[in-house]
Amino acid sequence: MKQSEGSAVSGKTKIRTGQDYIQSLRNRDLEIYLFGEKVDEPVDHPMIRPSINAVAKTYDLAHEAPELASVISPFTGERVSRFLHICTDTKDLVLQNKMQRKLGQETGTCFQRCVGMDAFNALYSVTFEVDEKYSTIYHERLKKFITSMHQANYVVGGAMTDVKGDRSLAPHQQEDPDMFVHISRRTAEGVYISGAKAHQTGCINSHWMIVMPTMKLGKEDQDYAVAAAVPVDATGITYIYGRQSCDTRSMEGGSIDQGNSSYSGQEAMVLFENVFVPNQLIFMDGEYDFASMLVERFTTYHRRSYVCKSGVGDALIGAAASIAEYNGVDGASHIKDKLVQMTHLNETIYGTGIASSYQGYATKSGAFICDPMLSNVCKHHVTKFPYEISRLSQDLAGGLVVTLPSEKEINHPEIGALLKKYLQGKKEIPTEHRIRILRLIENMTLGRNAVGYLTESLHGAGSPQAQRILIGRLMQLEYKKRLARILAGIEVVEDKTAIVQELGSYFERVFKIPD
Ligand code: SF4
Ligand code: FE
Repeated sequence: MKQSEGSAVSGKTKIRTGQDYIQSLRNRDLEIYLFGEKVDEPVDHPMIRPSINAVAKTYDLAHEAPELASVISPFTGERVSRFLHICTDTKDLVLQNKMQRKLGQETGTCFQRCVGMDAFNALYSVTFEVDEKYSTIYHERLKKFITSMHQANYVVGGAMTDVKGDRSLAPHQQEDPDMFVHISRRTAEGVYISGAKAHQTGCINSHWMIVMPTMKLGKEDQDYAVAAAVPVDATGITYIYGRQSCDTRSMEGGSIDQGNSSYSGQEAMVLFENVFVPNQLIFMDGEYDFASMLVERFTTYHRRSYVCKSGVGDALIGAAASIAEYNGVDGASHIKDKLVQMTHLNETIYGTGIASSYQGYATKSGAFICDPMLSNVCKHHVTKFPYEISRLSQDLAGGLVVTLPSEKEINHPEIGALLKKYLQGKKEIPTEHRIRILRLIENMTLGRNAVGYLTESLHGAGSPQAQRILIGRLMQLEYKKRLARILAGIEVVEDKTAIVQELGSYFERVFKIPD
């Protein structure tokens, strides 16, 4: 058995830079399938490498801007990535969002580390409350695990989304029990888990992953109520790499046609076949009544983590403004108006996300969590606004964004010069620059990074209906109806405190005086 607590940490030096990180991924024994073949070394695979570069950027940013992207670990006393930090005040939550916007700007894509960050924070408060109810020891175990991750400054991914099978059936009702990750066998030393997780962001680029339940569970789903840490190279794990639109352009050579040749996201399906987890890495085992709390807290963090898209939006707005300039139309009032519209939408995403963090509050464990209403509103914006921002960027780009010749023609000894002549925009702008910006817009709205900017914005951290359910649950209509009745003279209130809502409500947080 390869796996034991901290085995992946011992003997390894702490990761400090992007280069250290890339080096740490080499020579691992991962089973990865891509294009019908096993991948020898993902680090050197041209289709995978841009996704690794995006994660490496999180380490480099920690050097360039340590206050933004790193913290002094309360567990080790040393500086570690902010992605591994447990938030202990609203400033921590806010800085997560600021870091995400910056990384979105600098990579133009998904940098893959927020799922693990949000899983750590959710699990921290939930294990505390499970222990309080059941006298278990999950919280201490988790703190030990977090400490070992801080010692190595590792990348920890989160694995939540089960494949789910027949959506009308609970996990225990599925004909095939593997439709949800579950405990398949127990020994005195630990448990074995089986099943599959879909759409796993950055899983191959992580060192460890936190496996969690995907939804509310009932009494008969106890074997599905499992949260655990697993090293990504554990025996029994297989990865099936997800295809992305235009992904093979990275295998064609050249750098123009990719649009963003440096960075991309990564999604894979993860198959677990009797993967052993030792007791000390199990943070939930059978406490089905806490599964929904874990999922809801995770999504509360994660839905405002989607301010990452405002950073990506900044780069796309910049591309749209650049192409307008290169085309010589940047002075036109309707062009400016479209850029204003894109910015308004983009800042609306950021505004609600960062407000959710500013309106954060302490859980029983001491860890801070952001406001769930504003977090869901943020993510709900994200399911729509990037589509409109993309539409406007294509409007400004013109039809060339989808009809450009390939870079092989642009650089062709016979036809290249003529193409450069006919694709020229403003005289002082090299034609290649114009083509590069168009290809970037294509990349972000139709190509590889549209995966993250568009469809992942729609479905990641829960599809739009999931946010509407939460918004509906939190909207306090009785309170609002009462406000109306009072204003309309239907109800007279002597004691104004009587209309203050229940503890822990959205409006209690709205009217709380900030510290
Ligand atoms: Fe982070 Fe955004 Fe990627 Fe999710 S989509 S992991 S929030 S960068
Ligand atoms: Fe996501």
